[in-house]
Amino acid sequence: MARTKKVKSAGRFGPRYGIRVRKVVIAIEREQRKRYVCRKCGKKAVKRAGTGIWVCRKCGHKFAGGTYIPVTSATKMMEQAAAKAAKG
Ligand SMILES: [Zn+2]
Repeated sequence: MARTKKVKSAGRFGPRYGIRVRKVVIAIEREQRKRYVCRKCGKKAVKRAGTGIWVCRKCGHKFAGGTYIPVTSATKMMEQAAAKAAKG
């Protein structure tokens, strides 16, 4: 494997794009590789299956979420709006 020094997953960019951009990329990719808690079974087994697609390894629950993290602020806003609509 090629040496990537401190740049980790952003090493594929080589010296391009500047350090700030690459630092952001590292942060985002670290987030998207984390496992998240499944809303259906409560297990920490949700992994990113593709762009905006998240799958729970335990119960198979598949759902659409944010591109890099399963729950975005947009998701929360939509849920709040849906809850409001359901009430009234
Ligand atoms: Zn699950």
